[in-house]
Order: sequence, then C-alpha cells, then structure tokens
Amino acid sequence: MIGRFKLHKKLLSAFSKLQALLYKRFSQLHAVELLEGPHVLVFAPHPDDDVLGCGGTIKRHRQMGHTVKVVFLTDGALGISSLSARDTANRRKMEAQHALTFLDVPSEDLYFMDQPDGGLVPNAPLIETIQNLVSGFKPQLIYLPSFLDQHADHRATNEVLKNVELNGVLISAYEVWTPLIPNRLVDITAVIQDKIRAIEAHESQLANLDYKTAMLGLNQYRGLMYSKKKIQYAEAFICMPSADYFNLMAAVSS
Ligand SMILES: [Zn+2]
Repeated sequence: MIGRFKLHKKLLSAFSKLQALLYKRFSQLHAVELLEGPHVLVFAPHPDDDVLGCGGTIKRHRQMGHTVKVVFLTDGALGISSLSARDTANRRKMEAQHALTFLDVPSEDLYFMDQPDGGLVPNAPLIETIQNLVSGFKPQLIYLPSFLDQHADHRATNEVLKNVELNGVLISAYEVWTPLIPNRLVDITAVIQDKIRAIEAHESQLANLDYKTAMLGLNQYRGLMYSKKKIQYAEAFICMPSADYFNLMAAVSS
C-alpha cells in the first residue's frame, strides 16, 4: 500500500506541474477540424489502446484519405487469464485486426512488435525497428498514450519514442487509464458508431472490464464540457512538436 501511495503522490505532483506548464505555454483547449497528415503513425502498448484512446480520430484521418499505420508494442499476453500466453497473444492480434477494419485501417498497415506484456522496455532492437519505420514512413503526426498514463507499458511507450529521432514531428498523446489535461479535442460524433464497433471487436477485453462504457463516458464528457461548440463525443489529446513533448515529459518527471 505504501508503494501505491507513493506512486499516487508522484502522479499528483507530476499532474500539478503539467497543469502549470500547460496553462503557461498554451492557450485554451481547442477543437481541431483539419487533422495533420497524410502520414499518421499510432503507437498502442497493447492491442485495444489504439481504439480506446484515438479510435474515432483514426477513422477521421482515414476519411480524409490519410494513411494510418498502427504499431502494437506488446503482445497483450496477460489479457486473458483462461488462455495460455501464446493463445492470448494470437486471439488479441486477431481482435486488433478485426477492430481496425471498422476504422478502415488495412491489416498490411498493422505492425506487431511482440514485446512482453507488462515488461515493455526501450531496448535497442525495438528502438531500431521503430526508427526504421519512422524514417521510411515519415509521419506528420504520431499518436501515443500520454506519459502520465497509469500503466507501466504506457509510460514505457514514451521512453521508447524518446529514443527515436522524430525530426520535430507533431505528437498527440491520448488518454486511456488516466484522464489528461488536454490542449486538443477531435470531434468524433460522426464516427462514434464505428468506434463502438471497434471497441466491441475486443471481446476478450470487454469480458474483463466494461471499457466501452468507460471510454464513451469519457468521450461524452470531453465533448460536452467543451462549451464553445456543441460536441456530443470528442477524443482529447496533449498535442505539440516532439521536442516540446519530451521536454514536458522531462519537466514533470524531474
Ligand atoms: Zn494498454
């Protein structure tokens, strides 16, 4: 319990620092109509984070004709307690592919890094593989879970990307386990049914926890609390150039 309390205290302190930094450096939360592209790279620590954190936004990119590639870092092998690690990983890979059909992302644009679930670390071969992908694809926008997300693999995803040369690409950090102090909103009202179908494709995970209700509630909150415009559902992000993003990460972690 003491360890947990310490982590919460650390997170609270990081959050207050982040809030102060964001309020100092950025103007009001704003809804973005025209998303950057045409090359978009999404990092998901586990199969389903992509859909939960930015599924609606992925669909909007696809509707704009952007190419969206999704990189799954771990194999998700801890996600089904009744199956072996290998069977779980296979099942979750299939669910991830099926989910992304609803968001119009073809299976050839999915990359499975097969790192151990619960043990993601920024190791050299993984960094090299991602560096090659980034250098070849040249994305204008990268999505990843925020560095404050309450899951070690989600935070490690940020450590991996911190070690990749990103050349000032725009980073958009999404929320899964920990709500953000966002500076960007994407209206996903028109594609909410697609996001719902994509979440439902992760059947094995919905059996563990009602992620659908949780994420739709969060998306509804994000939309409704943005008072300038009536938005029913929105996904929220911290968005800034990569150097600024990783400086912010260093500032709140110090
Ligand atoms: Zn995850």
